[in-house]
Amino acid sequence: MNHFVYKDDNLFCEDVPIANIVEQVGTPFYLYSHATITRHFRVFEGAFNDFDHLTCFSVKSNSNLAILRIFALHGGGADIVSGGELFRALRAGIPPDKIFYSGVGKTPEEMKLALKSNIRMFNVESEQELQTLNKIANNMGCKATIAIRINPEVETNTHPYISTGHSENKFGISLEDALNTYESARQLENIDVKGISCHIGSQLTDIDPFLNALRKLKDILKELKKMAFDITFLNLGGGLGITYDDEKPPHPLEYAMALKKVLGKENITLILEPGRVIIGNAGILITQVLYTKSTKNKNFIIVDAGMNDLIRPTLYNSFHAIQPVKMIHSEMVVADLVGPVCETGDFFVKDRKMPPFKSGDLVAIMSAGAYSFSMASNYNSRPRPAEVMVKEKLFSIIRSRETYDDLIHGEVIPEFL
Ligand SMILES: *Cc1c(COP(=O)(O)O)cnc(C)c1O
Repeated sequence: MNHFVYKDDNLFCEDVPIANIVEQVGTPFYLYSHATITRHFRVFEGAFNDFDHLTCFSVKSNSNLAILRIFALHGGGADIVSGGELFRALRAGIPPDKIFYSGVGKTPEEMKLALKSNIRMFNVESEQELQTLNKIANNMGCKATIAIRINPEVETNTHPYISTGHSENKFGISLEDALNTYESARQLENIDVKGISCHIGSQLTDIDPFLNALRKLKDILKELKKMAFDITFLNLGGGLGITYDDEKPPHPLEYAMALKKVLGKENITLILEPGRVIIGNAGILITQVLYTKSTKNKNFIIVDAGMNDLIRPTLYNSFHAIQPVKMIHSEMVVADLVGPVCETGDFFVKDRKMPPFKSGDLVAIMSAGAYSFSMASNYNSRPRPAEVMVKEKLFSIIRSRETYDDLIHGEVIPEFL
């Protein structure tokens, strides 16, 4: 069920007319549907019901505390990639024993914080990281529980910037080095080897790459068992795609069934780290048209959101559907939807048929729940937008619009000037 729907020509989020939110919040802002988030999480969770598993939301896809709190309340964990994300996950109430920490560049300080917080597991991505983690755990008189992140060398059909499971990518440890790395991890006093992990990319719309990766992990698992390792966690990462335009990604149920079939009766806890599939279509960006202008061969619609608010179109050439907040019953025009930032890359849509928006009209940029606010910046000294959550008839600002004072927070003009 879609929770962004028109009633009498007006776009609603659940039971709230979006125009009413604009009156109180201004534009631009991100808008999330609580019902959509919980449904997506429940469907994903439910798909693995009969399997020993843990669903850990990928915090980098959307890091707002209110959103993380929803998963905490539904028994979810967190997949984190920095100390800042650890701070957020804990603040949102996600229990540390449901937190898994990936990333190729964990700093010693971040490792300390994670060990002190008693997180469940580090996904280690290099030999040197392993040595550093061991040293830090030793200094702290504790043991670090780890999985080794394998780069399973599988082909994916996603954008190269979000493909991560190939030897040309910086992530994980290669298949041929895997067993050696496990062996050297075993020699380390303050390392407890408990898992195997991978994450092969994002916005994957085929099941096969996941299954290929899982098969390769299973092969290694078999070797590790022979070598008497006690591996109890298998982490498959995230990556399940969503429909932005006309993609037909597998349903979570289909994904779960296929995985379970390949996995068989392994005595293991499966860790899943979905991000986009939960939150991508649960959020939209609301912006207002400032001006329109036409050149010899182009129509431009200039809105008050920019690439600093939503960088995906220019970074990944990604597709976002465009909808009017109040239905426009006139013939469509071909136009570019662009922002105010001083960059040619500041666009949301190029040469697409859309309603003939006019100055003052409100525009919804759809599928902007994942990798959207979490990638926002202050470029052009633009305060980052507000974030709003709707739950049935209620709405709440879950992050205030930044102010000009926020922009200069921490900046100092030194005495010698
Ligand atoms: C980014 C990331 C995810 C989430 O990916 P989605 O495509 O949003 O599901 C999961 N695990 C790791 C290690 C990641 O880096």
